[in-house]
Amino acid sequence: MNIHEYQAKELLKSYGVRIQEGIVADSPESALKAAKKLHAETGTSWYVIKAQIHAGGRGKGKIQETDSNGVVLAKNIDDVQEKAKNILGGTLVTIQTGAEGKKVNKVLVAEDVYYPGASEPKEYYLSILLDRAKGCNVIMASTEGGMDIEEVAEKHPEKIIKEWVDPKVGLQGFQARKVAFKLGLEGNAFKEMVKFISALYNAYIGSDASQFEINPVLKTSDDKILAVDAKVNLDDNALYRHKDLAELRDLAEEDPLEVEAGKSDLNYVKLDGNVGCMVNGAGLAMATMDMIKLSGGEPANFLDVGGGANATTVEAGFRIILQDPNVKAILINVFGGIVRCDRIANGVVEAYKSIGDIPVPIIVRLQGTNAEEGARIIDESGLKVSSAITLKEAAEKVRAAIS
Ligand code: GDP
Ligand code: MN
Repeated sequence: MNIHEYQAKELLKSYGVRIQEGIVADSPESALKAAKKLHAETGTSWYVIKAQIHAGGRGKGKIQETDSNGVVLAKNIDDVQEKAKNILGGTLVTIQTGAEGKKVNKVLVAEDVYYPGASEPKEYYLSILLDRAKGCNVIMASTEGGMDIEEVAEKHPEKIIKEWVDPKVGLQGFQARKVAFKLGLEGNAFKEMVKFISALYNAYIGSDASQFEINPVLKTSDDKILAVDAKVNLDDNALYRHKDLAELRDLAEEDPLEVEAGKSDLNYVKLDGNVGCMVNGAGLAMATMDMIKLSGGEPANFLDVGGGANATTVEAGFRIILQDPNVKAILINVFGGIVRCDRIANGVVEAYKSIGDIPVPIIVRLQGTNAEEGARIIDESGLKVSSAITLKEAAEKVRAAIS
């Protein structure tokens, strides 16, 4: 689950990570109020107004309606309201949102932390994620902060520092010092970075996160280290033990079909292809998507209806797949192990009748217990549904349906 920057920063702060302070607002008036409060609390007189959407690249992104950037600086409190107005309610398009962009419902009004001083402010990159191959968490850091890290990784892989942390042992002091040292820091900034990394790691573990990305981490002109941006991804499977964090979910940011699927306990991920598929079991779903590609189609989705597939789940799956206008055919691929194929076949027929006329051909491949009986039920149903027993047969029918 993703959360907004303002929520992520609050989470980090609660673990002692220093952040660029800010106050969230949902109207131009409350943005001005936030700026006044921020002035009173931090003394800042410049303000950064940041669109809150679940995507990065906001600084360079544009609000379509007003041409404002998604992150803007107000050097005068009297500009805050107008600048917030140009962002709120608009559609922000960034390299991460796709061309359709995302509607901005909230802005974060933050203190300016790039103020001049003894040294130049400098941006760094820090992230923590799970390295599955090594079974460790990995801290990634770079002096090339503020930039697109994928580009740095590609052109200058030597500029990415990696430090693996054994989750059983936890982050050791020398590891945080090693990262800070490799980033070229000295004196107070070095100490601040060590503290920053340790607190960040605690936040990552404590919140059961799957990814933290802080880009940029800023060394201010007076050698403070703080998070200017924060992308936090929480592990869905651990949310049951973080009720407070689970509440940070913003459904407006999620794909409406995926939200609906979640309500029926379906694992659904929307994709861009033309063949909808419904499968029981994630492994079989992956294999089915490969098979769709082999047959010349492109999967329109990943959909795992789970072990207990029945008429209700099949119907929910149908309804979700059919809302996608790109779908030209639907392939149902079910292995009858615990669930018998004849029951699935009856479920498909029932769901079909309950939805009414389904405009696209449906191919049902049932394999396992009572597969032949299942195929017979499908074939005798008189509906626009055809059965297949082998994967090859199913692939050929898909090919015929979309060509
Ligand atoms: P992103 O573009 O979505 O990654 O949003 P960020 O939170 O990373 O902000 C984008 C850029 O805004 C940063 O890289 C900074 O250059 C700039 N920025 C953020 N905070 C401040 C600030 O306090 N003062 C100034 N002058 N610029 C800032
Ligand atoms: Mn950023």
